[in-house]
Amino acid sequence: MAVGMIRALLGLAFLALPAAARAQALDVRPVAQDVWAIVGEKAQRSPENLANNATFGLVVTEEGAVLIDPGGSWRGAEALHETIRGVTDRPVTHVVNTGGQDHRWLGNGYWQAQGATVIASEAAVADQQARGSMQLSALSQLIGDALAGTEPAHADVTFTDAYTFELGGLTFEIVHPGPAHTPGDAFVRVPARDTVFTGDIVYVERILGVGDQSSISAWPAAFEAVAATGAAHVVPGHGGPTTMARARADTYDYLMNLRMRIGALIDAGGDITDAPQVDQSAFAYLEQFEALAGRNAQTAFQQMEWE
Ligand SMILES: [Zn+2]
Repeated sequence: MAVGMIRALLGLAFLALPAAARAQALDVRPVAQDVWAIVGEKAQRSPENLANNATFGLVVTEEGAVLIDPGGSWRGAEALHETIRGVTDRPVTHVVNTGGQDHRWLGNGYWQAQGATVIASEAAVADQQARGSMQLSALSQLIGDALAGTEPAHADVTFTDAYTFELGGLTFEIVHPGPAHTPGDAFVRVPARDTVFTGDIVYVERILGVGDQSSISAWPAAFEAVAATGAAHVVPGHGGPTTMARARADTYDYLMNLRMRIGALIDAGGDITDAPQVDQSAFAYLEQFEALAGRNAQTAFQQMEWE
Protein backbone atom coordinates (compact mmCIF):
# COMPACT_ATOMS: atom_id res chain seq x y z
CA MET A 1 0.00 0.00 0.00
CA ALA A 2 2.77 2.39 0.90
CA VAL A 3 4.47 1.79 -2.45
CA GLY A 4 1.20 2.38 -4.31
CA MET A 5 0.69 5.57 -2.36
CA ILE A 6 4.20 6.79 -3.15
CA ARG A 7 3.71 6.01 -6.82
CA ALA A 8 0.44 7.91 -6.82
CA LEU A 9 2.09 10.89 -5.15
CA LEU A 10 5.02 10.80 -7.57
CA GLY A 11 2.59 10.64 -10.47
CA LEU A 12 0.81 13.72 -9.19
CA ALA A 13 4.09 15.46 -8.56
CA PHE A 14 5.16 14.85 -12.16
CA LEU A 15 1.83 16.11 -13.44
CA ALA A 16 2.32 19.30 -11.43
CA LEU A 17 5.82 19.88 -12.83
CA PRO A 18 5.52 21.21 -16.38
CA ALA A 19 6.60 24.78 -15.49
CA ALA A 20 9.60 23.54 -13.50
CA ALA A 21 10.57 21.10 -16.25
CA ARG A 22 10.49 23.97 -18.72
CA ALA A 23 12.64 26.14 -16.49
CA GLN A 24 15.18 23.31 -16.33
CA ALA A 25 15.71 23.70 -20.08
CA LEU A 26 17.55 26.87 -19.06
CA ASP A 27 21.02 25.90 -17.95
CA VAL A 28 22.40 28.10 -15.16
CA ARG A 29 26.19 28.44 -15.39
CA PRO A 30 28.41 30.34 -12.93
CA VAL A 31 30.64 32.94 -14.63
CA ALA A 32 32.20 35.06 -11.88
CA GLN A 33 31.31 36.17 -8.36
CA ASP A 34 27.51 36.76 -8.36
CA VAL A 35 27.47 36.55 -12.16
CA TRP A 36 25.60 33.86 -14.09
CA ALA A 37 24.86 32.85 -17.64
CA ILE A 38 21.39 31.38 -18.20
CA VAL A 39 21.86 29.31 -21.32
CA GLY A 40 18.83 28.43 -23.43
CA GLU A 41 18.57 26.14 -26.42
CA LYS A 42 20.59 26.84 -29.56
CA ALA A 43 17.87 25.54 -31.88
CA GLN A 44 14.72 27.19 -33.20
CA ARG A 45 11.97 28.71 -31.00
CA SER A 46 9.51 26.04 -29.82
CA PRO A 47 6.50 25.61 -27.52
CA GLU A 48 8.90 23.92 -25.06
CA ASN A 49 11.55 26.67 -24.96
CA LEU A 50 8.94 29.47 -24.95
CA ALA A 51 11.12 31.45 -27.42
CA ASN A 52 14.00 31.48 -24.90
CA ASN A 53 16.37 30.02 -27.52
CA ALA A 54 19.21 32.32 -26.48
CA THR A 55 21.62 33.01 -23.63
CA PHE A 56 20.69 35.47 -20.88
CA GLY A 57 22.80 37.06 -18.13
CA LEU A 58 22.27 37.67 -14.43
CA VAL A 59 24.23 39.81 -11.98
CA VAL A 60 23.18 39.73 -8.33
CA THR A 61 23.93 42.71 -6.07
CA GLU A 62 22.91 43.64 -2.53
CA GLU A 63 20.33 46.04 -3.95
CA GLY A 64 18.79 43.74 -6.52
CA ALA A 65 19.54 41.71 -9.60
CA VAL A 66 20.21 42.86 -13.16
CA LEU A 67 18.92 40.63 -15.96
CA ILE A 68 20.51 40.85 -19.37
CA ASP A 69 17.60 40.24 -21.78
CA PRO A 70 14.07 39.46 -20.66
CA GLY A 71 13.13 36.27 -22.54
CA GLY A 72 11.23 35.84 -25.79
CA SER A 73 7.65 35.84 -24.49
CA TRP A 74 5.63 36.56 -21.33
CA ARG A 75 5.78 32.89 -20.36
CA GLY A 76 9.43 32.72 -21.35
CA ALA A 77 10.08 35.59 -18.93
CA GLU A 78 8.13 33.73 -16.23
CA ALA A 79 10.28 30.64 -16.81
CA LEU A 80 13.43 32.79 -16.59
CA HIS A 81 12.13 34.23 -13.30
CA GLU A 82 11.60 30.73 -11.93
CA THR A 83 15.17 29.87 -12.88
CA ILE A 84 16.47 33.08 -11.28
CA ARG A 85 14.65 32.25 -8.04
CA GLY A 86 16.85 29.15 -7.87
CA VAL A 87 19.89 31.48 -7.80
CA THR A 88 18.75 34.44 -5.68
CA ASP A 89 15.73 35.71 -3.77
CA ARG A 90 16.67 39.32 -4.61
CA PRO A 91 14.22 41.05 -6.94
CA VAL A 92 15.17 41.77 -10.55
CA THR A 93 15.31 45.57 -10.53
CA HIS A 94 16.83 46.22 -13.98
CA VAL A 95 16.47 44.45 -17.32
CA VAL A 96 18.65 45.33 -20.32
CA ASN A 97 17.52 44.70 -23.91
CA THR A 98 20.72 44.03 -25.88
CA GLY A 99 18.93 44.30 -29.22
CA GLY A 100 15.79 43.99 -31.25
CA GLN A 101 15.57 40.23 -31.74
CA ASP A 102 12.45 38.72 -30.09
CA HIS A 103 14.34 37.05 -27.22
CA ARG A 104 15.96 40.41 -26.39
CA TRP A 105 12.70 42.22 -25.65
CA LEU A 106 9.35 40.40 -25.94
CA GLY A 107 9.50 39.41 -22.24
CA ASN A 108 9.69 43.10 -21.21
CA GLY A 109 6.02 43.34 -20.22
CA TYR A 110 6.39 40.60 -17.62
CA TRP A 111 9.36 42.31 -15.95
CA GLN A 112 7.77 45.74 -16.00
CA ALA A 113 4.76 44.15 -14.23
CA GLN A 114 7.21 42.95 -11.52
CA GLY A 115 8.45 46.55 -11.13
CA ALA A 116 11.73 46.26 -13.05
CA THR A 117 13.18 49.13 -15.10
CA VAL A 118 13.93 48.15 -18.70
CA ILE A 119 16.88 49.79 -20.50
CA ALA A 120 17.62 49.72 -24.26
CA SER A 121 19.33 51.73 -26.98
CA GLU A 122 17.11 54.03 -29.05
CA ALA A 123 18.13 52.06 -32.14
CA ALA A 124 16.99 48.82 -30.49
CA VAL A 125 13.60 50.31 -29.61
CA ALA A 126 13.17 51.60 -33.17
CA ASP A 127 13.98 48.11 -34.49
CA GLN A 128 11.56 46.50 -32.02
CA GLN A 129 8.82 48.90 -33.14
CA ALA A 130 9.54 48.19 -36.80
CA ARG A 131 9.66 44.40 -36.53
CA GLY A 132 7.44 43.65 -33.51
CA SER A 133 4.28 42.61 -35.33
CA MET A 134 6.30 40.47 -37.76
CA GLN A 135 8.08 38.79 -34.82
CA LEU A 136 4.80 38.13 -33.02
CA SER A 137 3.19 36.51 -36.06
CA ALA A 138 6.28 34.34 -36.61
CA LEU A 139 6.22 33.34 -32.94
CA SER A 140 2.53 32.46 -33.04
CA GLN A 141 3.46 29.91 -35.72
CA LEU A 142 6.53 28.63 -33.86
CA ILE A 143 5.37 28.49 -30.22
CA GLY A 144 1.56 28.67 -30.54
CA ASP A 145 -0.37 28.97 -27.27
CA ALA A 146 2.88 29.56 -25.36
CA LEU A 147 2.78 33.10 -26.76
CA ALA A 148 -0.28 33.91 -24.60
CA GLY A 149 0.04 37.17 -22.69
CA THR A 150 2.92 38.51 -24.80
CA GLU A 151 2.44 42.16 -25.81
CA PRO A 152 5.03 44.57 -27.20
CA ALA A 153 6.48 46.65 -24.35
CA HIS A 154 9.45 48.97 -24.73
CA ALA A 155 12.23 50.28 -22.52
CA ASP A 156 11.61 52.75 -19.69
CA VAL A 157 15.12 54.20 -20.17
CA THR A 158 16.73 54.67 -23.58
CA PHE A 159 20.13 55.95 -24.66
CA THR A 160 21.94 56.81 -27.89
CA ASP A 161 25.49 55.43 -27.61
CA ALA A 162 26.14 54.47 -24.00
CA TYR A 163 24.48 54.36 -20.59
CA THR A 164 26.03 53.69 -17.19
CA PHE A 165 24.31 52.94 -13.90
CA GLU A 166 25.31 51.75 -10.44
CA LEU A 167 23.56 49.13 -8.37
CA GLY A 168 24.70 47.58 -5.10
CA GLY A 169 28.24 48.92 -5.52
CA LEU A 170 28.64 47.59 -9.07
CA THR A 171 28.93 49.68 -12.23
CA PHE A 172 27.07 48.54 -15.35
CA GLU A 173 28.23 50.06 -18.65
CA ILE A 174 25.90 49.52 -21.60
CA VAL A 175 27.35 50.34 -25.02
CA HIS A 176 25.68 50.42 -28.44
CA PRO A 177 28.73 50.12 -30.73
CA GLY A 178 26.68 50.28 -33.94
CA PRO A 179 24.62 47.70 -35.83
CA ALA A 180 25.58 44.02 -35.79
CA HIS A 181 23.05 41.16 -35.75
CA THR A 182 20.35 43.82 -35.33
CA PRO A 183 20.46 47.62 -35.74
CA GLY A 184 20.37 48.38 -31.99
CA ASP A 185 22.70 45.74 -30.57
CA ALA A 186 24.42 46.59 -27.28
CA PHE A 187 26.80 44.91 -24.85
CA VAL A 188 26.91 45.21 -21.07
CA ARG A 189 30.20 45.44 -19.26
CA VAL A 190 30.62 44.91 -15.53
CA PRO A 191 34.26 45.93 -14.90
CA ALA A 192 34.36 44.82 -11.25
CA ARG A 193 33.45 41.30 -12.38
CA ASP A 194 35.69 41.36 -15.50
CA THR A 195 32.64 40.29 -17.49
CA VAL A 196 30.95 41.38 -20.71
CA PHE A 197 27.47 40.30 -21.83
CA THR A 198 27.47 40.57 -25.61
CA GLY A 199 23.90 39.94 -26.70
CA ASP A 200 23.73 38.87 -30.35
CA ILE A 201 27.07 40.52 -31.21
CA VAL A 202 28.69 37.19 -30.21
CA TYR A 203 27.55 33.66 -30.95
CA VAL A 204 29.61 30.65 -29.87
CA GLU A 205 29.10 26.92 -30.46
CA ARG A 206 26.39 27.62 -33.06
CA ILE A 207 26.59 29.53 -36.33
CA LEU A 208 25.50 33.17 -36.16
CA GLY A 209 22.60 34.36 -38.27
CA VAL A 210 22.97 37.07 -40.90
CA GLY A 211 19.43 38.31 -41.52
CA ASP A 212 17.94 41.25 -43.38
CA GLN A 213 18.06 43.18 -40.09
CA SER A 214 21.80 42.45 -39.71
CA SER A 215 24.75 44.51 -40.98
CA ILE A 216 27.49 42.36 -42.47
CA SER A 217 29.61 45.51 -42.93
CA ALA A 218 29.32 46.93 -39.38
CA TRP A 219 29.18 43.69 -37.34
CA PRO A 220 32.98 43.09 -37.26
CA ALA A 221 33.55 46.57 -35.77
CA ALA A 222 30.90 45.88 -33.11
CA PHE A 223 32.80 42.71 -32.24
CA GLU A 224 36.05 44.69 -31.95
CA ALA A 225 34.34 47.06 -29.50
CA VAL A 226 33.41 44.03 -27.36
CA ALA A 227 36.96 42.68 -27.64
CA ALA A 228 38.39 46.06 -26.61
CA THR A 229 36.78 45.63 -23.17
CA GLY A 230 39.38 42.93 -22.60
CA ALA A 231 36.91 41.13 -20.33
CA ALA A 232 38.08 37.74 -19.07
CA HIS A 233 34.52 36.40 -18.96
CA VAL A 234 32.29 36.58 -22.03
CA VAL A 235 28.59 35.74 -21.85
CA PRO A 236 27.50 35.44 -25.50
CA GLY A 237 24.05 35.90 -26.98
CA HIS A 238 23.95 32.24 -27.98
CA GLY A 239 26.00 29.43 -26.46
CA GLY A 240 27.68 28.96 -23.10
CA PRO A 241 29.88 31.42 -21.21
CA THR A 242 33.25 31.62 -22.91
CA THR A 243 36.52 33.47 -23.52
CA MET A 244 37.26 36.33 -25.90
CA ALA A 245 39.44 33.98 -27.97
CA ARG A 246 36.57 31.57 -28.52
CA ALA A 247 34.18 34.44 -29.22
CA ARG A 248 36.60 35.72 -31.88
CA ALA A 249 36.97 32.28 -33.46
CA ASP A 250 33.24 31.51 -33.67
CA THR A 251 31.93 35.01 -34.50
CA TYR A 252 34.56 37.44 -35.85
CA ASP A 253 36.50 34.86 -37.88
CA TYR A 254 33.23 33.50 -39.31
CA LEU A 255 32.14 37.00 -40.35
CA MET A 256 35.51 37.83 -41.90
CA ASN A 257 35.64 34.57 -43.86
CA LEU A 258 32.13 35.19 -45.17
CA ARG A 259 33.02 38.77 -46.13
CA MET A 260 36.20 37.65 -47.88
CA ARG A 261 34.52 34.82 -49.85
CA ILE A 262 31.49 36.87 -50.87
CA GLY A 263 33.70 39.86 -51.74
CA ALA A 264 35.76 37.62 -54.04
CA LEU A 265 32.59 36.23 -55.64
CA ILE A 266 31.28 39.74 -56.33
CA ASP A 267 34.66 40.85 -57.71
CA ALA A 268 34.63 37.84 -60.04
CA GLY A 269 31.23 38.89 -61.39
CA GLY A 270 29.45 36.06 -59.61
CA ASP A 271 25.71 35.80 -59.10
CA ILE A 272 23.74 35.60 -55.85
CA THR A 273 22.72 32.05 -56.75
CA ASP A 274 26.43 31.11 -56.41
CA ALA A 275 26.63 32.61 -52.91
CA PRO A 276 25.58 29.49 -50.93
CA GLN A 277 28.49 27.58 -52.50
CA VAL A 278 31.26 29.83 -51.12
CA ASP A 279 33.68 27.95 -48.87
CA GLN A 280 32.57 28.15 -45.24
CA SER A 281 33.76 24.64 -44.42
CA ALA A 282 36.19 25.87 -41.76
CA PHE A 283 33.08 26.63 -39.68
CA ALA A 284 31.16 23.41 -40.31
CA TYR A 285 31.83 22.50 -36.66
CA LEU A 286 29.28 25.11 -35.56
CA GLU A 287 25.79 23.86 -34.70
CA GLN A 288 23.04 24.82 -37.18
CA PHE A 289 25.70 25.16 -39.90
CA GLU A 290 23.73 23.19 -42.50
CA ALA A 291 20.56 25.15 -41.80
CA LEU A 292 22.03 28.66 -41.90
CA ALA A 293 25.35 28.88 -43.76
CA GLY A 294 23.82 29.14 -47.24
CA ARG A 295 21.22 31.70 -46.21
CA ASN A 296 23.89 33.77 -44.46
CA ALA A 297 25.90 33.82 -47.70
CA GLN A 298 22.92 35.02 -49.75
CA THR A 299 22.13 37.81 -47.30
CA ALA A 300 25.79 38.84 -47.20
CA PHE A 301 25.84 38.97 -51.01
CA GLN A 302 22.75 41.19 -51.12
CA GLN A 303 24.27 43.63 -48.62
CA MET A 304 27.82 43.62 -49.99
CA GLU A 305 26.71 44.23 -53.58
CA TRP A 306 26.00 47.81 -52.49
CA GLU A 307 29.13 48.44 -50.43
ZN1 LIG B 1 19.63 35.98 -30.89
